[in-house]
Amino acid sequence: MNLVFATNNMHKLEEVSNILLSTCHILSLRDIGFEQDIEETGRTLEDNSLLKARVVWDWLREHPQTVPVDGVFADDTGLEIAALDNQPGVRTARWAGEEHDDAANRRKALRLLHDKQDRSARFRTVITLITAKDNVGAETSPIAAQVEGRVEGRMAEQESGDGGFGYDSLFIPDGYDRTFAQLPAKTKNAVSHRARAVQQLKLLLL
Ligand code: IMP
Repeated sequence: MNLVFATNNMHKLEEVSNILLSTCHILSLRDIGFEQDIEETGRTLEDNSLLKARVVWDWLREHPQTVPVDGVFADDTGLEIAALDNQPGVRTARWAGEEHDDAANRRKALRLLHDKQDRSARFRTVITLITAKDNVGAETSPIAAQVEGRVEGRMAEQESGDGGFGYDSLFIPDGYDRTFAQLPAKTKNAVSHRARAVQQLKLLLL
């Protein structure tokens, strides 16, 4: 089965491809020649994840591929910090400004948390899958399904580690004393928000 993952983020592609290795073949946006920027105008992670999957699905109707594409999925991730009323949530990518700047976002998190005792936080990922095949492979009208994964943890007092991406150098998952950026990729991929959402996605594909 060939699925398009609606992202060009190489870190996400690697994380997700590792988990889905035996289930399907994954194509990135670059692989299919999709070069537009998708504006994330939704009010929730669910809206944005659906929006991204739908834009790529519709584009594929106009741009048939040489390999048959069986479906498209997109993820949207939010960091929810308890002491900040679950902010930045849907604004996680553009928290510090309209340009997506991970370093500025991390500085903003540290600044807003400097006097907070409660540093608990979670990552939440919503994945939307659109396919026009049912689970025995028969053609259907397009169906969209959503799954979610989350990981609870806390925000570190300073950045540590150089693995991963985004807020990884600040996020310590429950049960560990190191950030995602310090932990081996294999560990992040066993417990992360995205890994848990992808495990749910896998169940939809079986
Ligand atoms: P999006 O899902 O690509 O829109 O990502 C939203 C924001 O969350 C961006 O700032 C990403 O850098 C950040 N982000 C997404 N996934 C992760 C992750 O696994 N670890 C750390 N930051 C992430």
